[in-house]
Amino acid sequence: MKYETVMGLEVHVELATKSKLFCACSTEFGSDINENVCPVCAGMPGTSLMVNKKAVELAIAAGLLTNSEISPRITFDKKNYFYPDLPSGYQLTQLYSPICKNGWVEIETDAGKKKINLVQIHLEEDAGKLIHDDWTDTTLIDFNRAAVPLIEIVTRPDFRSAEEVVAFLEKLRSLLSFADVSDCKMQEGSMRCDLNLSVREKGTEKLGTRTEIKNMNSLKAIAAAIAYESQRHIDALETGDEVLIQETRRWDDSIGATFSMRDKEDATDYRVFPNPDIMPVFIDDEWIDAVGSNLPETAQDKFIRLTQGLGLPEYDSEIITRSKNLSNIFDETLKHFNNPKEVANWIIVELLSIAKGDNKGEDDVRIDCRKFAKLIELVDGRTINRNVGKKILSLILEEGIDPVEYAEKNKLGMINDTSLITSTIQEVLSENPKALEEYRGGSKKVHGFFVGQIMRKLGGKANPQIVNKLLVEALKEI
Ligand SMILES: [Zn+2]
Repeated sequence: MKYETVMGLEVHVELATKSKLFCACSTEFGSDINENVCPVCAGMPGTSLMVNKKAVELAIAAGLLTNSEISPRITFDKKNYFYPDLPSGYQLTQLYSPICKNGWVEIETDAGKKKINLVQIHLEEDAGKLIHDDWTDTTLIDFNRAAVPLIEIVTRPDFRSAEEVVAFLEKLRSLLSFADVSDCKMQEGSMRCDLNLSVREKGTEKLGTRTEIKNMNSLKAIAAAIAYESQRHIDALETGDEVLIQETRRWDDSIGATFSMRDKEDATDYRVFPNPDIMPVFIDDEWIDAVGSNLPETAQDKFIRLTQGLGLPEYDSEIITRSKNLSNIFDETLKHFNNPKEVANWIIVELLSIAKGDNKGEDDVRIDCRKFAKLIELVDGRTINRNVGKKILSLILEEGIDPVEYAEKNKLGMINDTSLITSTIQEVLSENPKALEEYRGGSKKVHGFFVGQIMRKLGGKANPQIVNKLLVEALKEI
């Protein structure tokens, strides 16, 4: 506890535009290799660059959501460096007039609330992607990602724990994904983060030697990298065996350690200078207001609407508002079947457990909400029982069946007929004398066994409440 870790973040977020930052090429994820490329985004000399208006608007939205000042006039600069995935030899970014400055984001951890200050948010273009082929010992380049618009969010070194870093990234993801600024999928690379870390003795002002860590592609990896790197710094300070140098390090998730990549360049190494080919973009208050008034509901506002407006428990609302996709499914399903608690239950208990079984995250669940609503209504109205409902839900997801038609066609209607259920109970009891003996001997477990047998005889369609009630009565009489 003698030391404290001081951290800052640089978060790259891919903007949810349909086209690239300076041309009309598509930004679609998963296109064929080099399908989306033209002379502009391939960095050919003499091309004419036009700034994507939507990208500017999404950056303004990011600024408003992070309490930032929006610059009235922005320009783009050339950051010069050579790398094969950057055909022009420079990256177009904003060094001299970033679109947003001096923002802040409030986070909440077990230690309470805290403000994380932002230095700036700037617009820039992404680079292409290198594909290394070990079989042929060659490297190929895919330019689909070249010049896709990004914002880079740069924080002040305000973080003191991995918990704070994770809380910040979760908050950022929530703010930006609910506003449709970006889908913020770390696993697909639409949200990436680099971390600056140094360690100093508690109570001292001077910052320790700083290392930058790259290549962390999940929140879990980030937390693990922070733990590892902090300890490496502390060990170096304590034992003096290793000398800390300012450098960039790569996190290797499979090994659970960071490795040196290269010495950190200083900004001057890049020879950044203004790009005279792109006209400045002027941003007036009217434009900012228009973007602000079109912002969708934030997760926080949605949470309040769900708990206070619809009376949902905080637990349910928390889960639903954790993902833009889930909360869209909730709202859309509610339009067709207005029972918030039931819809929430089906999403949280059934839909998410199927998704988990298929290795899908909350953001990747897709369902026809009209059919989903019909299914919930069938179960809620006791037309079919819950177990049959679960099976139908899987079929909606896999085959897109219509639940009402399917239930009718396959005669899945719930059996409420007490005389049929009573006679089935008698059958099951008389067919299982051994189990009955165990019941008499005091074993309560066999109750569940009997229920299973009765349900099986009735094709899984019996009303479980009636089965339970009649079984309890039947067993009393024995
Ligand atoms: Zn292009």
